[in-house]
Amino acid sequence: MGAKRNKRKALINRQSIDGKLTCFYCDIQINRENVSIDHIVARKKGGTLRRENTVCSCSDCNNEKSNKPPQKWAKELRKRGISDARIDSYMIFARNKVPPYHKGFDIK
Ligand SMILES: [Zn+2]
Repeated sequence: MGAKRNKRKALINRQSIDGKLTCFYCDIQINRENVSIDHIVARKKGGTLRRENTVCSCSDCNNEKSNKPPQKWAKELRKRGISDARIDSYMIFARNKVPPYHKGFDIK
């Protein structure tokens, strides 16, 4: 098992709650085979490869977010009816680059 695979597994476990994995952005349930690893701050915008900057997302969000700046992506999420609380937590992570501790972090 390669390091990359272990990293991916660790990220999935970190974001799972009671064995269920949901997209960090839109909260849709995703199965483990279809997880996209997204960089909160895009690599092209200076985001790092470190785990603090990575979350699990559905492929739709991953594709749509692409390299958009956080403000723009937040606007799109809002249009899609994603809750303010969830968007706010994303913005906090994007702004401060603090580790997104998903477990126990209420982002409903
Ligand atoms: Zn999503």
